Amino acid sequence: MMIDLHMHTPRCGHAAGAPSEYVAAARRAGLEVIAFTDHLALPDGYDPDGEYAMRPGELGDYVAEVREVQRLSGHSPRVLLGIEADWVPPHRGQTARAIASHAFDVVLGSVHFLGDWAFDDPSLIDEWSLRDVAGAWDEYFEAFTHAAASGLFDVMAHPDLVKKFGHVPPGDLSALYKDVAAAVADAGVAVEVSSAGLRKPCREIYPSDALLSAFCRAGVPVTTASDAHTPEEVGSGLAEVREAVERAGYSSIVYFEAREMREVPL
Ligand SMILES: [Zn+2]
Ligand SMILES: [Zn+2]
Repeated sequence: MMIDLHMHTPRCGHAAGAPSEYVAAARRAGLEVIAFTDHLALPDGYDPDGEYAMRPGELGDYVAEVREVQRLSGHSPRVLLGIEADWVPPHRGQTARAIASHAFDVVLGSVHFLGDWAFDDPSLIDEWSLRDVAGAWDEYFEAFTHAAASGLFDVMAHPDLVKKFGHVPPGDLSALYKDVAAAVADAGVAVEVSSAGLRKPCREIYPSDALLSAFCRAGVPVTTASDAHTPEEVGSGLAEVREAVERAGYSSIVYFEAREMREVPL
């Protein structure tokens, strides 16, 4: 079953194409289940240029728009209503209220900020030269595991996004990965395996084979996703993603419906 559980709409300010075009692209690609998961509005001050996420008042319109394509799609593919929410710890109450305000099928949790630094924004890449890479990784995975344990999210998106521009600490990361996987397993959430990294400077699926194997050993379920920001990207790289999932030792993947996990064979 080909599933793409992460895609966007132009409401976020950095995606293109109408939702109906994403659905048509999914149908052409033979996908059976897709989820729209646009970026939930960020707390005040985190998105000054309106390029990271939808506006605070747009959530209702976004939901109505997804419901409309859901109706028109006639279950081919199945269209799920999702949202991608940032982990911004000082504002977790606000995030929780927004998530609870609609009947989402799936809620993705993402770490895009270390403090107030949007570390994956290409326009802020210079900040990396001021940072210790290993320190940034520790900070990232601490936030990632706290987000996983927060109870807000069903799936943790792009698990090692911190490597996006190719910043990877030297040495053996297996102890870190084992700890991260154990924390995520305890939290009871799934993690996403995403082709988006293949289209970024790191040129690698999120998460790496080593981290994905650690998740598998810890019993963490996985979803598959493109993180499409254009219709052309819908389903892209899913074959590689599924190979990585199988290589790591998985025999099944999951998706969510009304926030209940559904397991299907790979
Ligand atoms: Zn995005
Ligand atoms: Zn996304």
